[in-house]
Amino acid sequence: MNDMHAVATDVATVKLLIDGEFVESSTAHWRDVVNPATQAVLARVPMATPAEIDAAVAAAQRAFKTWRKTPIGARARIFLKYQQLIREHMGELAAILTAEQGKTLPDAEGDVFRGLEVVEHAAAIGNLQLGELANNVAGGVDTYTLLQPLGVCAGITPFNFPAMIPLWMFPMAIATGNTFVLKPSEQDPLVTMRLCELALQAGIPKGVLNVVHGGETAVNAICDHPDIKAVSFVGSTKVGTHVYQRASLAGKRVQCMMGAKNHAVVLADANKEQTLNALAGAAFGAAGQRCMAASTAVLVGAANDWIADLVAKAKTLKVNAGTEAGTDVGPVISCAARERVEGLIASGVEQGATLELDGRAPAVPGYERGNFVGPTIFSGAAPGMRIYDEEIFGPVLVILRAETLDEAIELVNANPNGNGTAIFTQSGAAARRFQEDIDVGQVGINVPIPVPVPLFSFSGSRASKLGDLGPYGKQAVTFYTQTKTVTARWFDDDTLGHGVNTTISL
Ligand code: NAD
Repeated sequence: MNDMHAVATDVATVKLLIDGEFVESSTAHWRDVVNPATQAVLARVPMATPAEIDAAVAAAQRAFKTWRKTPIGARARIFLKYQQLIREHMGELAAILTAEQGKTLPDAEGDVFRGLEVVEHAAAIGNLQLGELANNVAGGVDTYTLLQPLGVCAGITPFNFPAMIPLWMFPMAIATGNTFVLKPSEQDPLVTMRLCELALQAGIPKGVLNVVHGGETAVNAICDHPDIKAVSFVGSTKVGTHVYQRASLAGKRVQCMMGAKNHAVVLADANKEQTLNALAGAAFGAAGQRCMAASTAVLVGAANDWIADLVAKAKTLKVNAGTEAGTDVGPVISCAARERVEGLIASGVEQGATLELDGRAPAVPGYERGNFVGPTIFSGAAPGMRIYDEEIFGPVLVILRAETLDEAIELVNANPNGNGTAIFTQSGAAARRFQEDIDVGQVGINVPIPVPVPLFSFSGSRASKLGDLGPYGKQAVTFYTQTKTVTARWFDDDTLGHGVNTTISL
């Protein structure tokens, strides 16, 4: 990605957050934050300089000295306050998000809410960051574990959930005693910055949370920085693979949650109306720009007769700006994204799939300049076609046919991605077989977008994830802490013991 972009000069600038202060960048390189429904320039965002990134990391490093020793109750209370502030500002946060990202206002509230759940979980850190103790592992000897924070951690986030995904990262990292440097998506950083303001208002001390902006150069600086101990990344497979390799090479702990091609497998015994509603919502909601979008349907046997009904359902969805009441499908994030999605639709036609519903160039009165693509459905798709092999990240549903559940499972497992999947059926036996044999991190049974709540962790397998531990939930506590084992013997008198022992025993 190129860090150089044309910019407007008469709009507000997005600030960096360094050592508790929102500061103007001294960079010469900026890019516009653009409303995808109107092309209005909302703000300009800086590509932070190397010195600014160093200053953010240095502030986090200084703050770590005291933050790591802050009592657990004091840390937890900040997140109790923070969740309250987010609730109070829900409407404002959703409006900022919709303006810069495009999704509908109710969906923007959902974006904030799924992040808020992680903040609530971070407020329970007292119960989460507990070590273990084994009593009398040898005579008079106990062994116990301390889950200690790592130091400065960093987060790099994508454009599609500008509230939820930053909130997957910094609350749990900070609640466990680390300090943080966040690099939000340069395409929609405004709601993320508002969330950071609220975090400071909730009591996060200066230097504990810092924000730098930028693209490739900033990300590479984070990967290379010797004082950053861990990197959490969410975004495309191409960039995530690069981040994983580069940051691991620099000795960091890294987790990368990446791209997807999620299959919904539909058996003919499923509840038809509920299944078609679920498919349409999960394929076209957020204009298909969810990493858990059900972008591929595998219709098994007689379920192939449902295509006409699915098309009819998709036609009922309203394409409009996310701020308009009743909108189902908003614009995609940028003109470049729209062109990419339209190009992929054209490739599907060229490669012989059947275009059942063409959503290109929909009429959206009042928003003629918006990046709109309407619901689009292909049937007859197959591996080897670009519409199947690539993540489209737009409101395009690609349908494949299978004759049996076994064939469907084989198809899903042969796809390189393993982020999410779902089966629609009324057969418990079929659902259980699917759950056992499918090689995908997150499985829904009659649930189209099975993103787990923070009592669990986001998972993902194969090309959709690098690193062992997922963001938020219990796995995030492990990711953001170093386990230290202590083996202790306390003498209760002045006896001389048994003399020098040169064996390995305790
Ligand atoms: P992206 O990979 O383009 O950007 C992600 C981050 O990487 C951004 O902060 C961006 O500034 C930075 N970046 C972009 N190009 C870079 C480069 N060449 N070198 C270094 N850094 C670079 O992703 P996106 O388009 O913002 O988001 C969409 C992608 O994210 C989709 O593939 C989607 O599936 C994925 N995603 C995955 C999950 C998940 O949990 N698995 C969740 C949300 C999104």
